[in-house]
Amino acid sequence: MNQLLPDARECQYFRGNLHGHSTHSDGALSAEAVVAQYQALGYDFTCLSDHLWIEPVFCAQSVLDTGHLDSDTFVTIPSGEIHCLGKKHDRDDLWHLVANGLPLDFASATEDETAPELLERALAAGAYVTLAHPEWHSMTSEEALSLHRAHAVEIYNHGCHIECMRGGGTGVADVLLQEGHRFNLIATDDSHFRIADFGGGWVMVAAENLSADALLAALKSGRYYSSTGANFVEMTLEESRLVVSCSPVSHICVSGQQTHSMSRNGHNITRAEFDLSAFDSDWFRVTLCGSAGQMGWSNPVWWR
Ligand SMILES: [Zn+2]
Ligand SMILES: [Zn+2]
Repeated sequence: MNQLLPDARECQYFRGNLHGHSTHSDGALSAEAVVAQYQALGYDFTCLSDHLWIEPVFCAQSVLDTGHLDSDTFVTIPSGEIHCLGKKHDRDDLWHLVANGLPLDFASATEDETAPELLERALAAGAYVTLAHPEWHSMTSEEALSLHRAHAVEIYNHGCHIECMRGGGTGVADVLLQEGHRFNLIATDDSHFRIADFGGGWVMVAAENLSADALLAALKSGRYYSSTGANFVEMTLEESRLVVSCSPVSHICVSGQQTHSMSRNGHNITRAEFDLSAFDSDWFRVTLCGSAGQMGWSNPVWWR
């Protein structure tokens, strides 16, 4: 039996935000206050991914060192929202990539660095790199395909959702999947704290322990899921029998290539089995939706 997500009854999942801002760039709260907010919400970790770009008005010129804010019960991961020029449909022509686990001396892009070059530099530096808010700035399929080596796509960005109802990433993620690319999904806040844009989208990470290194290793191996309130308990695959256990939800959907999908629908569903023997897709991803609209997303699984 292949355990696609570890059993939450037997191991610890750490809750965290991978995308957020402080007064180091254009956020409203200091890094200390941001950490206090996430601790008060019961999170285990957060990322101060302040904007890193040569433009001084809303961007920092360096990766923020938040190591002094770490404790035995809460950690931060050095991060940045890294920018460069050349993005269509953005008012500043800027690309937005989020890089978690950046070295503190990671330099801002120059005016002539392309997005694929910036991505490769962040990957080479060891970061977990994500395509940020693809719906918010209308990322085209061509643009997404040029960055297919990113680790993940933001399937949900809470700030973009509540500020302009452009918080999704399903379209871009599925185009990349249909084209055969392998990557993960994340839900984030993109919190700036000028409005209540925090505590809305997060990841639950089955890391070996609560440290930046262990969290990054678990992210890179896909041992986590994304959520706005619906939780996976366990997900297993035995030959073609997929079993999903979760918090009570109304819909469990298995999505695959082309238009293939399967679903269970009802009230307070906490377990569903799917026979994938006739499911004509090399990959699938599982989405949960609760009666109040709370969502959960597995990472894509390439199962044969
Ligand atoms: Zn952004
Ligand atoms: Zn951001």
